[in-house]
Amino acid sequence: MGSREVTEHQARPADSFAGQHITVAGLGVSGLSAARALARLGAHVTVVDGGDSPARRETAAALADEGVTVRLGDADTLPEGTDLVVTSPGWKPSAPLFAAAAAAGVDVIGDVEVAWRLRGPAAAPWLAVTGTNGKTTTTRMLGAILRAAGLRTAEVGNIGTPIVDVILDQERAGGEAYDVLAVELSSYQLHWAPSLRAHSAAVLNLAPDHLDWHGSMEAYAADKGRIYEGNRVACVYNLADRATEDLVRGADVEEGCRAVGFTLGAPAPSQLGVVDGILVDRAFVPDRQRQAQELAEVGDVNPPAPHNVANALAAAALARAFGVPATAVRDGLRAFRPDAHRIAHVADVDGVAYVDDSKATNTHATEASLAAYEPVVWIAGGLAKGASFDELVASAAPRLRGAVLLGADRALIREALARHAPEVPVVEVDRTDTGAMSEVVEAARGLARAGDTVLLAPACASMDMFTNYNERGDAFAAAVRELDSGGA
Ligand code: ADP
Repeated sequence: MGSREVTEHQARPADSFAGQHITVAGLGVSGLSAARALARLGAHVTVVDGGDSPARRETAAALADEGVTVRLGDADTLPEGTDLVVTSPGWKPSAPLFAAAAAAGVDVIGDVEVAWRLRGPAAAPWLAVTGTNGKTTTTRMLGAILRAAGLRTAEVGNIGTPIVDVILDQERAGGEAYDVLAVELSSYQLHWAPSLRAHSAAVLNLAPDHLDWHGSMEAYAADKGRIYEGNRVACVYNLADRATEDLVRGADVEEGCRAVGFTLGAPAPSQLGVVDGILVDRAFVPDRQRQAQELAEVGDVNPPAPHNVANALAAAALARAFGVPATAVRDGLRAFRPDAHRIAHVADVDGVAYVDDSKATNTHATEASLAAYEPVVWIAGGLAKGASFDELVASAAPRLRGAVLLGADRALIREALARHAPEVPVVEVDRTDTGAMSEVVEAARGLARAGDTVLLAPACASMDMFTNYNERGDAFAAAVRELDSGGA
C-alpha cells in the first residue's frame, strides 16, 4: 500500500457542472436522475438512448419540459459540442459512444463520480462497500450500526435513493443533513468514478462475475480495487479471500491509513474476528498487541450464517474506523433486518424449514448459502450466465439431501450433480409457466425429512421465467404458504 500526504480532493472546490454541455448515456433510472439533477444545476443536457419505444417518447417529452434534450434511436454518435459524458452503470466500456468520446478527448464518468464532484467543503465522509456478494447486506448493517450510534446517515449508491439526489439534498442543507454515508458501490460504478476517495472502504470478496462487462477477471478486480484509492483511515479486507488483500496492497492511500482484515477465526492485531461466539475487535483499540474489544455475539447477527457473520465484521470494521463505540455495533446488528429474498425464513412445514435466498444469483453466493444448512434440499436453476457448477456442486455434495432443478439452464446443474454427487436424488421441473414453482416446492417437500432445510438458492439469474429475483422469491414463498395451509 503506497501513501501520499497531500490530498487533491480536500483542496478541490465542488464542481457545479453549470454551463457544461453534458451527454447522458441511457434513459434508465440513474440516467434520468442524473439528467434532471444536471439540468437543474444549469448544465445543457442531452440524453441519448438506442431505444425508441412509446414509453421512452413519453419520458422524453416530460424531460423536454425540464429543458433536457433527448435523442432516441441513436446511442452511438457523440452529440456535437459535448464537454462531458455521464453514463449509466449498465453501459459496457466498449460502447461506440465511449470510443467516440475518447477520440474527441471527452471524459466519461458515472453517477457516483457526479455525486462525488458535487460535494462541498462540509460534505459527509463516505464509508464504502463493494464485493461480488454481500454488498447490500453489509451496507445496510453498516447503516444500522451508524444509526445506533446516533449518527445521521443514509445507505446510498447501488441501493436506495439515487446518490446524486442525496448529495444535492445535503448541499442544499449546507452539509447538515448527514454525518456520514454508507455507500454501496458496484464494479460498474467504481469503473466510472475515477476521483472518488472514501474515508474507509471494504472489499468483501472477489469471484468471477460480470466478466462480459469488464472483459476479464483482472479488469473486474482492478475496478473493485479502485474503492481503496485514497482511503484515509482504513482499507478493510477479507482474510479468507487473498484477492481482496492483494487489492489493498496495490492501492495508493493516504498517510496513516491502515489495512484491517476480518476473519471468522480468532483475530491477530489489526484484525476483527470471532472468539468463542463473540465478534471481537483487535484493530480499533488503544493497544492492539494486548487488547481486544468485544463487539457483539454471533447470535446478534441476523441470520447468523457464516458468510453473514463475515458481512457483520466488515460493517463493524468500517463503523469502528469512523469511531463508533462497541455498544452501537451490537445494537445496530440487533436492529438490522435483511432485505427480502436474502436467506429469508419463509415457514416451517412438517418440521422442514423453507428458506428463500432468491438473491443468490451466482455460484459464489449459492456456495455461501448452502454452507449454512445441513441436510439441505437445494432448489436451483435459471439463466447460468456462462457459469460452471462443478466446484459448487462438489463442495456442497456431502450436505445435499436432494435437488430440485428448474429453468433454462438446469441441465448444466444436473450434469454437475451427476459428476460430483451421483447418489443425490434430483427432480427436474420442465414447466416454465408461473405455476411451475408450486411443482418445484411440492417436489422439494417430497425429498425433505423433518429437520432438513429446503433452500431456494438458484445460482442463476431469474429472467428466463420471472421478471426478477424478487418475483422468483415471491413465487417460492407463495408456494410454501400453500403447503402450509394444507393446499397444493
Ligand atoms: P449484493 O448486494 O452484493 O448482491 P446481497 O447482500 O444482496 O449482495 O446478497 C446477495 C446474496 O449473496 C445473498 O442472498 C447471499 O446468498 C449471498 N451472500 C451474502 N453475503 C455473502 C458473502 N459475504 N459471501 C458470499 N455470499 C454472500
